[in-house]
Amino acid sequence: MTTFHTEIASKTAPKRPLAVLLFGAPGSGKGTTGKMLAKLTGWPHLATGDLLREQIARKTPLGLEMQSILAAGQLAPDELVSRMVWDRLSWPDCENGFLLDGFPRTIPQAEGLARWFEGKAFRPVMIHLWVEYNEILRRLTGRRTCPLCGAIYHIESNPSGVCEIDGAELRTRDDDTEQVVLARLQTYQSQTWPVAETLKGRGIAVEAIECGEMDPEGVADRIVSRLERVAGKFEKRNSKEISGAR
Ligand code: ADP
Repeated sequence: MTTFHTEIASKTAPKRPLAVLLFGAPGSGKGTTGKMLAKLTGWPHLATGDLLREQIARKTPLGLEMQSILAAGQLAPDELVSRMVWDRLSWPDCENGFLLDGFPRTIPQAEGLARWFEGKAFRPVMIHLWVEYNEILRRLTGRRTCPLCGAIYHIESNPSGVCEIDGAELRTRDDDTEQVVLARLQTYQSQTWPVAETLKGRGIAVEAIECGEMDPEGVADRIVSRLERVAGKFEKRNSKEISGAR
């Protein structure tokens, strides 16, 4: 089995660059896994939640508009998020493959993305991360993030409340309070869940991964195997460069 601690053998480039769509409920591990996969593959990890929070932190007009929407656990308007994504996907660092986390999250976003792929070389693969409901609640209400580097922790595994990478004091995301978590899970159920079927209907491969019991390294490892099964072996970075999210 390939692991993060194994020297990677294959040097065969994929025939078409992979566009990996990380899909799953809030707290399913898209962010943590996406960061690990980005280190492993060298592809950019584009998380729409991070892009929106960045706008909020910078107090841009878009950020000011989005602040109350995110704080209530609702979704940002499709047109606005989609425009942000199309713009980011046009950067040259996406040419060899990318990891899209948190998009598409509604049927109109999914249809827009399917259209975006038309006529492009990318091979899209949706990775659907499955985690049991109570585990999701435990993860989200105990989640702490580093305001400087974005590392993700859980209060149980890091009771010190300090980032192991840069020593910054960890924060609870505004939308990780119990009330907002429940609203986000409802939004997921009603608006995001049907997206997997929409993409399947558009011929996009959907790979489901059961990951409630697995640590993030195990999840990332399994995703790599699935991607290679779908698209063939691809060149990875030296495993020594790879460190996991906490
Ligand atoms: P999670 O997956 O844990 O909910 P994210 O960081 O992906 O966390 O998203 C945080 C919030 O950002 C969402 O609750 C939503 O308000 C907004 N958001 C992120 N991605 C999208 C999207 N594709 N469409 C609309 N809103 C989004």
